Amino acid sequence: MSDLVVLRPEGLYCPAGDFYIDPHKRVTRAVVTHAHGDHAKSGCARYWTATPGYRLLKTRLGAAAQVKPQDYGQVFELGGARVSLHPAGHILGSAQVRIEVDGEVWVVSGDYKRDDDPSCAPFEVVRCDTFVTETTFASPDYVWPPSGSASAAIHAWWQQNRADGFASVLFCYALGKAQRVLAELRRHVDAETTVYLHEAMTKLVGHYRREGIAMLATKPVNECVASHDFRGALILVPPHAFGTPWLKRLAPYRTGFASGWMGADNGRSAKYDRGFTLSDHADWPSLLRTIDETGARRVLAMHGDSALLVALLRARGLQADALDLQH
Ligand SMILES: [Zn+2]
Ligand SMILES: [Zn+2]
Repeated sequence: MSDLVVLRPEGLYCPAGDFYIDPHKRVTRAVVTHAHGDHAKSGCARYWTATPGYRLLKTRLGAAAQVKPQDYGQVFELGGARVSLHPAGHILGSAQVRIEVDGEVWVVSGDYKRDDDPSCAPFEVVRCDTFVTETTFASPDYVWPPSGSASAAIHAWWQQNRADGFASVLFCYALGKAQRVLAELRRHVDAETTVYLHEAMTKLVGHYRREGIAMLATKPVNECVASHDFRGALILVPPHAFGTPWLKRLAPYRTGFASGWMGADNGRSAKYDRGFTLSDHADWPSLLRTIDETGARRVLAMHGDSALLVALLRARGLQADALDLQH
């Protein structure tokens, strides 16, 4: 049996179905695992994606893009391949791609995590012969704190800043992280509490609300009057706005950053007053547990440094290789 997914210059390719998964060049048929920029290349002729992420992907690709939403678990045929999408627990609408040809099953994970996240459907374990896993954090250095502890720490930081007369400016990615923070903070404050948003997040938060994700009330900063006093408030801002003049209107403030990269720091926390480890990728124990649970005899690792994982899986008797993909 030949491989159901192979690596081509355009990205992961399924020969039996004649489609790509998250291609990074323009192709005819693209199955997109989720709407993050490094997975959703514009200019392809046709797209398939999971229904909850449909609006997010259209926002990324433009209104003219031909996108077919597919409900989780619903089988559709592309060429000779039976394809279905399954929750990856990464962001709203994120999907693993299950491909079946003549009884052989491959699953391409896309980005995924196993931690609890009230802003998207939880990861579903899909049994398969070959599992293509992402390896963004494939090192024992990466072990996330328990689910919910980051948002509890963000809440405590925010309340302390409020008591001290400061605004809390939390830098986080506009798609996925911001909405997860807004959903998790409902456990800590009254649901009517308003959190302020940088304008880059407004539309994306609206898409989450339309998909029924419960989050704190939000208001765009640019809809506030120029004299608005933000002391005591929490404001979510994308990392690219760090150091820009736009922030001046939020003063006096303290800064925080919510990211998985805080888990190993890499010097990033130095420029922020506080760092919070909040990742939308699997940590090392979750990667190993997930591979085990899929029952796969063969594992292909991509999207990160996979040497350690590949060596460990081989030592356990699995067939394991790195798939090197240039983004
Ligand atoms: Zn992603
Ligand atoms: Zn990614």
